[in-house]
This record gives sequence, C-alpha cells and structure tokens, in this order.
Amino acid sequence: MNADPAAQLRLLDLQAADTELAQLAHRRATLPQLAALASRERQGAELHHEVVDAETRLGDVEAEQQRLEREVETVRAREARDEQRLQAGGLPAKELEGLQHELASLRRRRGTLEDEVLEVMEQREDLDAAVAGLRGRAQDLATERAALESERDASFAEIDAAGEQRRRDRSAVAAEIPPDLLALYEKAREHGGGVGASALRQRRCGACHIELSGSELAAARHAAPEAVLRCDNCRGILVRTADSGL
Ligand SMILES: [Zn+2]
Repeated sequence: MNADPAAQLRLLDLQAADTELAQLAHRRATLPQLAALASRERQGAELHHEVVDAETRLGDVEAEQQRLEREVETVRAREARDEQRLQAGGLPAKELEGLQHELASLRRRRGTLEDEVLEVMEQREDLDAAVAGLRGRAQDLATERAALESERDASFAEIDAAGEQRRRDRSAVAAEIPPDLLALYEKAREHGGGVGASALRQRRCGACHIELSGSELAAARHAAPEAVLRCDNCRGILVRTADSGL
C-alpha cells in the first residue's frame, strides 16, 4: 500500500490518541473506589443479614417476655382470689389447708416466672444493644459508601471529559488520513493489542521493539517514501521519521 508520508506521520498522532483513550478506559474501569465500593457492598449485605437475624431474635425474646408476663398476671390473679377466700374466713380446716398449700405453690410459681422475666429482659437488653450496634455500623458503612460514590463520580466526570476531548482530537486526525490507510491501521491495531502504528526508531519497531533484520532494513532503505511499511514481527505499521536510523 502507498500513502502520502504526511498521512503516515499523522498515524502516530492517531495512535497517541487511541493509546490515551485506552488508558482512560482502563483508569475508569480500575478506579480504586470501585473495588472499595464492591467491598463495602459485600459488608453491607452481610451486615443486613446480621441485623435481620438480631431483630428476629429480639422479636422472639419480646414475645417470650410478654408470654411470661401474662402468665405472671394469671398466677397473681389466682393468688388474689385465694387470699380473698382466706380473708373471708369460715372455711373448713381441710379446705383451708388446701388453699394455703395452693397459695404457697402459686407464690413459688410466680417467683420462678419473675426470675424468667428478668432473664428474658437481660437477653432483650443485650439484643437491643446488639441491634443498635449493628445499625450504627450499617450507618457508618452507608456514609463511607456515599463518600466513595461521590469520589468515583468525580473521577468518572474527569475521565469522561478528558475522553470526550481526546475523541474529538482523534476524529480530526482521522479525517486527514486516507480511508485505506485508516482501515489498515484499524486492522493492525486490532491484532496488535491496541497498537496499530509506531515510529521506526533506531531501526527498532516502536510497537514490539524488535530490531529490523538486515533484509527488512535494506527493504526499508530502498522503499519509496509513499510505501507503507509493516513490521515483519508484529505486523504493525512502521512510520519512518528522521530518527529511524536508516
Ligand atoms: Zn513490531
């Protein structure tokens, strides 16, 4: 292929723009805030499970406390009824003995229940504190995430603005390059891992850095300025400059 040497030189500007665009895309995809956010999201999900779990246990303990308190009330009501019957007097000795026995048993039962209520209240306090602690951590995590998101968005905006500017520059450069040379560049870039054209510098390919062989060098020396040279090693377009060492 032949192309105006000036257009060949413009390929180097096009390559510079494409390299910078690729670097911007890489920077955008690997912002440290993205990894930090992903980690906070995982922590947040774990924390959410812990909160739900602790709230469920708290709900169970609250229900248990209410059940025990209702039972205490039932026992207390029976005690009151028995005491009234005792105070009313006039009971036969056997019934009196039975009533006193029942009252003692009800008091013991109530004592046990009240101890259980105290135990459950302690559990409830512990769980209340645990839930509050977990909610506090979730809140801290949300604050951290919001800060990271705003840092990320600021970086995105900066990168996107730079990218937009670079794409405009690239379009202007590409417009100066003949379509067949541009197509060859794009193809070479696709196969060259993002590098389609490089300057031949000190007899080395600027893309793969391999020194040209004797025959390649001879061919390059004798080639017309319009001839488009390709590296035998990486197939990238080689652009001759004053520094090519030919
Ligand atoms: Zn090469």
